[in-house]
Amino acid sequence: MFSLQGKTAVITGGGSGIGRAISRLFARQGATVHIVELNPDAAAQVVGEIEQEGGKAQVHQANVAEQQQVLHVFEQIGKLDILVNNAGIAHVGNVENTSEADFERVYSVNVKGAYNCLYAAVPHLKAQGGGTIVNLASIAAHVGITDRFAYSMSKGAIFAMTLSIARDYLGDKIRCNSISPARVHTPFVDGFIAKNYAGREEEIFDKLSKSQPIGRMGTPEEVANLALFLCSDEAGFITGCDYPVDGGFIKL
Ligand code: NAD
Repeated sequence: MFSLQGKTAVITGGGSGIGRAISRLFARQGATVHIVELNPDAAAQVVGEIEQEGGKAQVHQANVAEQQQVLHVFEQIGKLDILVNNAGIAHVGNVENTSEADFERVYSVNVKGAYNCLYAAVPHLKAQGGGTIVNLASIAAHVGITDRFAYSMSKGAIFAMTLSIARDYLGDKIRCNSISPARVHTPFVDGFIAKNYAGREEEIFDKLSKSQPIGRMGTPEEVANLALFLCSDEAGFITGCDYPVDGGFIKL
């Protein structure tokens, strides 16, 4: 069930958190994994973990915001069945606290970075006779989290990007969906707490966990499980949709 045997998967930001969990799970299910990462040391560590489990993986250092770097990496990878646009960054602030530089930084990774990878990957997926794409969105785009102006907007753009790709490439057998996690315990969250609540890490972690309807944060593996399903042949009838992994955040 949910085998990726013989598939080649590109995971951006696979050196940490959700991307790491997706890379490890996909490799365990038989995929050859290519991790496209800004941080090659972190990615190399994940490749080591995968190889220890008998899987196949490779590091490609690139900034997804830089189109030439992305094109070069996808040229090297060549054949491709799966793309997971996972690399993302956040900014804390309402519109008044979001400078032009903050806005551009978030957009350059979360929106332009995803576009760059789609631009590079789609010709390969078409040549391959189809494939599947998963983009990481967020509940922030569903409900508008307080003080996440640029981040929420950037994740809203992921919904439209997902729909547009799904519609344009229906005839090419390319499926495209997105996942919207609520708070998932990753270095992304730990970094946010450390930066904004130094000395109160434990208290804030507890508060954030309890603020989730289900009473805890999600795990990266719980997001990876959905990504695996969406990228598998078993999800062959699913395209153009967003799926929350949110412990009830949006509806309850
Ligand atoms: P993380 O910070 O733990 O990992 C992100 C990885 O992306 C890092 O290894 C980083 O080096 C890499 N990266 C960042 N910018 C890059 C760039 N320009 N080019 C290439 N690689 C780059 O983050 P995470 O928590 O695992 O989040 C992964 C995705 O899930 C993000 O898109 C995030 O917005 C989304 N998300 C996370 C949460 C959460 O609570 N953790 C919730 C909703 C959505």
